[in-house]
Amino acid sequence: PTRIFSGIQPSGGLTLGNYLGALKRFVQKQDEGIETVYCLVDMHAITTWQDPIKLRQQTREAAAGFIAAGIDPARSILFNQSQVTAHAELGWIFNCVARMGWMSRMTQFKDKAGKNSENVSLGLFAYPSLMAADILAYKATHVPVGEDQKQHLELTRDIAMKFNNDYKVNFFPITEPVIEGAATRVMSLRDGTKKMSKSDPSDQSRINLTDDADKIAQKFRKAKTDSEPLPSDLDGLKDRPDARNLINVYAALADITPEAVIRDYAGAQFGTFKPALADLAVAKLSPITTKMSQLMQDPAEIDRILGEGATRADAIARPIVDQVYDIIGMIRSR
Ligand code: ATP
Ligand code: MG
Repeated sequence: PTRIFSGIQPSGGLTLGNYLGALKRFVQKQDEGIETVYCLVDMHAITTWQDPIKLRQQTREAAAGFIAAGIDPARSILFNQSQVTAHAELGWIFNCVARMGWMSRMTQFKDKAGKNSENVSLGLFAYPSLMAADILAYKATHVPVGEDQKQHLELTRDIAMKFNNDYKVNFFPITEPVIEGAATRVMSLRDGTKKMSKSDPSDQSRINLTDDADKIAQKFRKAKTDSEPLPSDLDGLKDRPDARNLINVYAALADITPEAVIRDYAGAQFGTFKPALADLAVAKLSPITTKMSQLMQDPAEIDRILGEGATRADAIARPIVDQVYDIIGMIRSR
């Protein structure tokens, strides 16, 4: 049976990258009638220090963003990670399955730790093993993510295989990453070779789901580009990462292919294309932004939804993690 799991860190406000690469696709999977479990991974967020007041606020805001974008808490399970202790428990067990060598090859750790990794948290290094636990605590079969998470999903498969092999069981599924669409890797508006991220220090590098129409227009107007007009085919975008990014974003927002965007805008200047892109982004995002701020008027209701989601998530994950304890030889006598 197909079961989808995915998550987003409440490490800042949701971005256009999170929306196109993850959230929009989470909604599509739910609407296809697949069983969907979506998690605000607050324990991942604290791998870099978070102000407690902001963390709580960002978690609620992310939940509001999910619901505003179309996640229905009656059809999908929506909760925050720390309310379901199975994640942390299985995460520890996977720390003992994963190898130092595997973890050392993770490019996200290298990117986030920078040159001096002496002073980053141990949690940042172990992050992918907790992520494997998030997924496998539900025996999820498919995980929709952006392109940047591909390597972590390969590690999840390696952990599942090693666990099955070490304990001579056929227990964990070998999860499939689902990386699809025109915007699996939305780039920074200031540097087309860098991923758009909610934790980027520059607010100009990203569109936030909370940005208003003026802000969105201003950010696209100022987005880095070259000075050539748009080419007449995709080949013409090869060495133009900034231009290619804007084309991909347009395609993903409009639910058309990048080829179709190029066909419509062949030869156009950015002075024409950028305002069209901003208008499209505002048309698609502003209903979400409006709904989000309405939902944020009632934080107690958001907390209630997350609590109820956590109860349903726990009902799936608890028995799975209990079986893991049995498999590995832990005494369970109370
Ligand atoms: P942080 O900077 O704190 O890591 P982030 O913006 O990378 O934040 P995550 O919470 O790490 O967001 O990722 C949540 C989901 O969004 C993942 O599936 C990830 O692949 C996807 N995602 C993140 N950034 C992008 C992007 N620029 N383009 C497409 N998908 C993205
Ligand atoms: Mg990230």
